[in-house]
Amino acid sequence: MLRLISKSLASLGPASNKRFIASLSALPDTYQMLYQTCRDFAEQELKPHAAKFDREHLYPEDAIKKMGELGLMAIATPEDLGGSGLDYLAYAIALEEISRGCASAGVIMSVNNSLYLGPVVYFGTDKQKEEFVTPFCMGEKVGCFALSEPGNGSDAGAASTTAKDADDKWIINGTKCWITNGYESRASVVFATTDKSLKHKGISAFIVPKPIKGLELGKKEDKLGIRGSSTCSLMFEDCSIPKENILGTPGMGFKIAMMTLDAGRIGIAAQALGIAQASLDVAVDYASKRIAFGKPILKLQAIQNKIADIALRIESARLLTWRAAWLKDNKKPFTKEAAMAKLAASEAATFASHQCIQVLGGMGYVSDMPAERHYRDARITEIYEGTSEIQRLVIGLQVAKEYGL
Ligand SMILES: Cc1cc2nc3c(=O)[nH]c(=O)nc-3n(C[C@H](O)[C@H](O)[C@H](O)COP(=O)(O)OP(=O)(O)OC[C@H]3O[C@@H](n4cnc5c(N)ncnc54)[C@H](O)[C@@H]3O)c2cc1C
Repeated sequence: MLRLISKSLASLGPASNKRFIASLSALPDTYQMLYQTCRDFAEQELKPHAAKFDREHLYPEDAIKKMGELGLMAIATPEDLGGSGLDYLAYAIALEEISRGCASAGVIMSVNNSLYLGPVVYFGTDKQKEEFVTPFCMGEKVGCFALSEPGNGSDAGAASTTAKDADDKWIINGTKCWITNGYESRASVVFATTDKSLKHKGISAFIVPKPIKGLELGKKEDKLGIRGSSTCSLMFEDCSIPKENILGTPGMGFKIAMMTLDAGRIGIAAQALGIAQASLDVAVDYASKRIAFGKPILKLQAIQNKIADIALRIESARLLTWRAAWLKDNKKPFTKEAAMAKLAASEAATFASHQCIQVLGGMGYVSDMPAERHYRDARITEIYEGTSEIQRLVIGLQVAKEYGL
């Protein structure tokens, strides 16, 4: 798959080196090559169309297929299953660049890579992997992850969707909401309780192919941002799936969900970094051209301070994100670090996109420029895969543990 990436690099023509992440030069060539491929792909195939995807709520189907061909829809999935066989550091680097071009493409990629393929690759049987991993690596099919419900989001352990053991099948009833890729996905990892008396320990995970009898989709949510990705409810009514579609064993669902979200948060951190970086790109470019009081506003200290504050937050959050990825890649605990990365990067994105509008003045407030879209796209990164409050809770608990409490 890496061959595909290098081939495409050649076909994309000479790389633009206008902005290069300094810390990348310390990384092996594979990461630098991947960065450059994703950067050029985002510049040529995503950035020019991102406003249209947003305005018309368009799923970027062609771009996602091309990303699949480049190996970006299954970066950390082993090569023998059809993935790129790279690691989470590669994933973070690639996802940041894709999200810099289009935050909607970023979240579609993130959900397929970490929330869907992640648990199926890790917990799935060989048969499940054959059916539900390999066909989802090339961008033709995408998956989704259905944990949240109308009655509980942050409190995921209180799931009320049920899966009843009925001899040779499971029968699922209940509603999952806010499901990213809900419309386009061809399979979903669904969490449902198999034993309510055990509370979160009674939750199990299932792979549900789509479409399937007994599963209806709710309306497409009309969102503030990431409008090129679909979000909808999945409504199960006596939806029966084969017995072998359970992921792991009964009662393992909550653990699977939490492990998946730890990794997923590295992805959302990377998505947020891409939005923050796009905001910085716009702010610097505009400030270098906009003349006020006889000189470019970039020469004004008030504007330089804003640029400095944005750049500082991006660099800090990027290092946290790369550290969390490195820890995961090296099989070390990374729950606290992933939560820190997601918290820092999503707050950096909110801050950067807010300041970017200020740098642009009136032009920041209208859709002729991308600043307002980045501002709208940034907001979700503080909500999904655990709100900022939940990240602080996770970090606080982990720090207390480090003190033996
Ligand atoms: C666009 C979008 C896409 C999404 N995609 C997916 C998806 O693909 N799959 C999926 O399963 N879910 C998805 N979600 C759901 C998302 O993960 C939840 O919205 C999020 O976890 C928050 O849950 P909630 O909306 O129920 O808010 P609540 O849990 O009701 O929280 C409301 C407020 O209370 C705070 N709060 C709650 N509990 C605590 C606590 N213990 N301590 C401090 N503060 C607390 C929250 O931080 C928040 O500020 C998506 C949501 C959106 C909007």
